[in-house]
Amino acid sequence: MDPTTPLQFVKGIGPARAQILEAKGLLTAADLLFYLPFRYEDRRNVKPISELTPGEKAVVLARVESSKLTRFARGRGGQVLEVRFGDGRPMHLLARWFHGEWLANSLVPGVRAALFGKVEFDRARGMMLMVQPETEILQSLEEDEETLHTGRMVPIYEGAGNISTRVLRVLLNRILHQVTLPPDPLPASIRERQKLPTLDEAIRHVHQPPPGVELQLLNDFRSPAQTRLIFDEFFWMECGLALKRARGRAANGIAFQVTARSREQIKKMLPFKPTPAQRRVTQEIADDMKQPSPMHRLLQGDVGSGKTIVAAQAAVIAVENGHQVAVLAPTEILATQHYLYFERLFKPLGYNTVLLTGSATAKEKQQLKRALSTGFANIAVGTHALIQDDVEFHKLGLAIVDEQHRFGVVQRLRLFEKGANPDVLVMTATPIPRTLALTVYGDLDLSVIDQLPPGRKAIQTRHVFEEKIERIYSFVAKEIAAGRQAYVVYPVVEESETTAMKAAEKAHQHLSEVVFPALTVGLLHGKMTPDEKAASMERFARGETQILVSTTVIEVGVDVPNASVMIVEDADRFGLSQLHQLRGRVGRGAHQSYCILVTRKLTETAHQRIRTLVDSNDGFYIAEMDMKLRGPGEFFGTRQAGIPGLRFANLLRDADLLDVARREAIQLIESSRHDESMKQALQQVVRHIKEHWQRQYGLIQVG
Ligand code: ADP
Ligand code: MG
Repeated sequence: MDPTTPLQFVKGIGPARAQILEAKGLLTAADLLFYLPFRYEDRRNVKPISELTPGEKAVVLARVESSKLTRFARGRGGQVLEVRFGDGRPMHLLARWFHGEWLANSLVPGVRAALFGKVEFDRARGMMLMVQPETEILQSLEEDEETLHTGRMVPIYEGAGNISTRVLRVLLNRILHQVTLPPDPLPASIRERQKLPTLDEAIRHVHQPPPGVELQLLNDFRSPAQTRLIFDEFFWMECGLALKRARGRAANGIAFQVTARSREQIKKMLPFKPTPAQRRVTQEIADDMKQPSPMHRLLQGDVGSGKTIVAAQAAVIAVENGHQVAVLAPTEILATQHYLYFERLFKPLGYNTVLLTGSATAKEKQQLKRALSTGFANIAVGTHALIQDDVEFHKLGLAIVDEQHRFGVVQRLRLFEKGANPDVLVMTATPIPRTLALTVYGDLDLSVIDQLPPGRKAIQTRHVFEEKIERIYSFVAKEIAAGRQAYVVYPVVEESETTAMKAAEKAHQHLSEVVFPALTVGLLHGKMTPDEKAASMERFARGETQILVSTTVIEVGVDVPNASVMIVEDADRFGLSQLHQLRGRVGRGAHQSYCILVTRKLTETAHQRIRTLVDSNDGFYIAEMDMKLRGPGEFFGTRQAGIPGLRFANLLRDADLLDVARREAIQLIESSRHDESMKQALQQVVRHIKEHWQRQYGLIQVG
């Protein structure tokens, strides 16, 4: 048997079981070998009933003598199953399961079972007792395989259909006895440096832990065997990414020059003094643009950290070199905002900026496209409309993608393909740990703005219940009297802008007619035409409306520094990162700003989210909490197609191993350039990834 052997050739797997396994994606011996236990139990302490002592955890192998199902004394319909076990000696063991109905049919007199749990002494009955013990029926098993389930550290697998954890243990034992595994694909030097077991040993030990390994280590996924398998998964992925990156470096791109004139133009353009952090990342970007290979850089900075002006400086360099710049934004509102902002910055420099969104008329689009293809437009800002097939650039040199978490890798690629290997700058406000960012965003280099512009005061965040809203309104009135502005945001529920729109419209009416009759209240929602949206946004930006009632269309990027109050209605319906983004719409100027999270009621998880925001303004911390509360998969979203499905590694739990694996991968590729043995090791790695990894994940092209 080898790893590719189909599972139906394993003794004990007939067509029915094969089908169940297949539904779980388990087709070959290798698939099952990599189907890992999710926890372990210490079942080394096997004892006859007569030797049990109260307080200890033990395993008992015994036969059912009698069983009884009774209603809870005062319960609401639940039943208690009590089973008396014997092992052929005078003493008995009582086992009790609350809500044990499901077990009653299998634990009938005569059945042999293994019980695992804490031993107590039942005074009333004068018998040893186990409450809610783990149980496994022994009858269907061959005697010689019984030792798989007791007397050792026992793996617990997620069952499938009628294939229980027990059956899986037996099947895996059979495979492990027969299978010949291919040579270890991990270069020996790395394995030794990281003190990892061989793959063969790791696979065997993960299913059948050797004597002496600690239970805690196993359940923390840190036994040597588990560490090796997690390391592997990260290592192959990081090798794939590093190889891909190396290839990208070798491609021919544009070597921009940073001339005295570009510096002059940048100086002329800057409306304020950049922070040291902005200066540093601008330098990193400029250095990258000077390289003859294409830039692929991620600019990460919390909301309000000032990414836009950094992007503008990169744009100046590109335009001064005779190239065009494309700026891709996820929403029409944000695209419009960027357009207005860039237009104001670039007009004095003599650059032409255009806006291309889905809402332009056919005739306008025609003109805009001509402006792009002839090179008349130096900077094109737009939404998805910008990456349509019929949009052509005269000479695209720099592509900027804002709020990357809204776009997939594919869209980034399409923009890239509109030029001859243009430089790409991706901006995101989702602050995640560095190694994670490097991995999730794969082939991108990373620049981080880790500092807010000066004079910012930390936003004060409060939670209030709906019935206290009047107090908030009087607070808003005071802020507006002091010259500030406010947002009131309603959530989009279940993907339906219509519901949110209705809520917003109703609130708009209420606020403008009843609460603030003397003020001008604006309205903004997704169902308005793009012109209406832009007009509403501009009125607010110019201060003509003091309050803007909106749905989440304003979530990303909107920048009105005079606004100081953000009221989020039904805040419990928003995710953590979304709330942080919304809050980031205020606190953009020198004024003390406030974020008020309003809810009717509060569930436990919503409470956790709101607490997190009330406690912290730190986007890094919030992203981490969000990832913890939702899990990394959900956090990055399905559209974030940069990361392969990890089977047992966990990005959060195993961040330390990811770091190590990444360093080893990069080092291997570096050293393979001048070291012949490392070169061979790399070739072997590439072969391995091609054969195994690519088939499994199909995402990253190698070599
Ligand atoms: P984000 O990183 O969220 O995209 P923006 O680029 O929109 O942030 O910047 C947020 C606000 O801070 C804007 O009003 C911008 O003009 C202002 N700003 C950015 N950098 C500075 C700075 N160095 N000094 C003063 N204001 C700044
Ligand atoms: Mg922005």
